[in-house]
Amino acid sequence: MGTKYQAFHRRSIEDRDAFWSEQAQLVDWHKPFGQVLEYNKPPFAKWFVGGETNLCHNAVDRHLKDRAQQPALIYISTETGEEKTYTYAELHAEVQRMAAVLQSLGVGKGDRVLIYMPMIAEAVFAMLATVRIGAIHSVVFGGFAASSLATRIDDAQPKVMITADAGMRGGKAVPYKHLVDESLRLAQTPAAKVLIVNRGLDKAMSLVAGRDLDYATLRAQHMDTQVPVTWVESSHPSYILYTSGTTGKPKGVQRDTGGYAVALAASMRHVYQANPGETYFATSDIGWVVGHSYIVYGPLINGMATVVYEGTPLRPDAGIWWKIVQDYKVTVMFSAPTAIRVLKKQDPAFLRKYDLSSLRHVFLAGEPLDETTAQWIAEALDKPIYDHYWQTETGWALLTGLPGVEAHATKFGSPSFPAYGYDVRLLHEETAAEVAPNEKGVVAVMPPLPPGCMSTVWGQDERFVQTYFTSFRDKLIYTTFDWGTRDEDGYYFILGRTDDVINVAGHRLGTREIEEAISAHDAIAEVAVVGVADQLKGQMPMAFAVVKDAARIATPELSAALEKEVMAKVDSLLGAIGRPKRVHFIAQLPKTRSGKVLRRSIQAIAEGRDPGDLTTLDDPSGIQMVKAAVDGK
Ligand code: ATP
Ligand code: MG
Repeated sequence: MGTKYQAFHRRSIEDRDAFWSEQAQLVDWHKPFGQVLEYNKPPFAKWFVGGETNLCHNAVDRHLKDRAQQPALIYISTETGEEKTYTYAELHAEVQRMAAVLQSLGVGKGDRVLIYMPMIAEAVFAMLATVRIGAIHSVVFGGFAASSLATRIDDAQPKVMITADAGMRGGKAVPYKHLVDESLRLAQTPAAKVLIVNRGLDKAMSLVAGRDLDYATLRAQHMDTQVPVTWVESSHPSYILYTSGTTGKPKGVQRDTGGYAVALAASMRHVYQANPGETYFATSDIGWVVGHSYIVYGPLINGMATVVYEGTPLRPDAGIWWKIVQDYKVTVMFSAPTAIRVLKKQDPAFLRKYDLSSLRHVFLAGEPLDETTAQWIAEALDKPIYDHYWQTETGWALLTGLPGVEAHATKFGSPSFPAYGYDVRLLHEETAAEVAPNEKGVVAVMPPLPPGCMSTVWGQDERFVQTYFTSFRDKLIYTTFDWGTRDEDGYYFILGRTDDVINVAGHRLGTREIEEAISAHDAIAEVAVVGVADQLKGQMPMAFAVVKDAARIATPELSAALEKEVMAKVDSLLGAIGRPKRVHFIAQLPKTRSGKVLRRSIQAIAEGRDPGDLTTLDDPSGIQMVKAAVDGK
């Protein structure tokens, strides 16, 4: 760990106000803030108190002076074949049209707008238009089941919902508006109006008179309407966003305005080393926190062009992302381990087909980045790869490489160091004492949380404190609910979630450790390990693995032989204590729509229990495969 980074990080904690006051200069303030931090009601932190600003102004308007004709939003759909670049001037015009339409529907400061849209440019206009007029958006990932959408409608009570007739995935239309209809039937609080961007993909779409409105028609009435930004106090909520629901009921994260703008602006410089005028490509979706921070707000606040991509990484072929990098001279890329594992199953020649000289580095976040995947992508691209650890709650990286602060070596399997502003500790789960190097502890943050992190749980201050700040006895400390270690050099390693620990005859093993060992077998593409109740040992690990080549498990004999090999691999890397009771080979793991393995449901099925809430599931067949494997079918 370099001295420059150390000094930078130390200053962010020890001279906090001066540090963040400097970072705050990276954004525009309509009225300067009086106090950097108000922290008289821990753990509630208010950043840049008294300052007035606006997210949309910082993302759009303030660039008009220097970059009106530069690209701001690059929309690419490999599903419909559309490809269109909006300059900052054009983005400004479109956002004002959308804002004017929202105002005409009675939306004003503090009102909620629920956005349920596919990855189209209008989804970004909708987000920017909402914050422009001081309203609060709640973007719900497109494709969530009607019941999940209904819960979020009831939570936010939106004045307007914005949707599209349909999205497209893998060449098939996915109805959106139809789901909105269904969710409004289920919800207790019907939205007043539903604004529809009609792409002409769902010919069967029906409209409810008086409630449903066609966006194109209303837009045409506001082509030249000017909508000045509504200045809001720094802690005015900008949006509500739910966590992924991997461990249970999603939590509605509330974000502020000023702190978030500053955090994102600072991260573009210190974390991503991304410069104005360049192109940023995050392969996520606007329905997730990565989409909010690094498809929409971060790159635009930084005066960059951002790529909004509708499509899969495999169509028309597995080279599409790298073609985008080449065509638009992408300098910084942000993706997820799950996507890289998908590419890993394809011909690596696709990665060498395009000119990737513009690309500086790639950040991967959302779940553990196993060593084999990290190594594969680092070698295939020949670019630095940064494992990047954060949460919906934090809004930006918590543990990460910081090439913008100081170049440093990365270690496979490690998201490197705490980002500035985070006073990270590894704490013993019971005593709350700091653990020694290489000892397992809960990844925790001493409050106040830095700018950009959640202000509270939407409408439930008590739940915010209860959920996140009561894990360590009477001490007010933020828990991430993840296990981690730190080595002698200061590198952190994430071992998995605190509820993903297996207790084998008194030995506590992280599921991640066993998964790493199994992934080290070269036949394995992907694996999930869960703990199942065992009469003798308390718990035993059970593995569900996807093989790279189905020929390896073509017959029961081959499959049994591979299972033995995998167990031997675990024995050699972890010792027999980590050896799974069974290694089941299945074609696909059950994942949430954000690509996270649903271990809680796998575990329930493996123990013969009910798998619980499956609404966040991407594709039900993964769960059926687990069930069939466990039942021995
Ligand atoms: P929920 O909180 O609703 O159960 P979730 O935790 O999956 O869902 P997110 O906020 O999307 O919701 O995910 C954050 C979590 O993802 C982290 O707490 C951690 O468990 C995992 N994660 C993110 N990045 C990494 C990483 N680089 N390495 C390991 N784990 C990661
Ligand atoms: Mg979580």
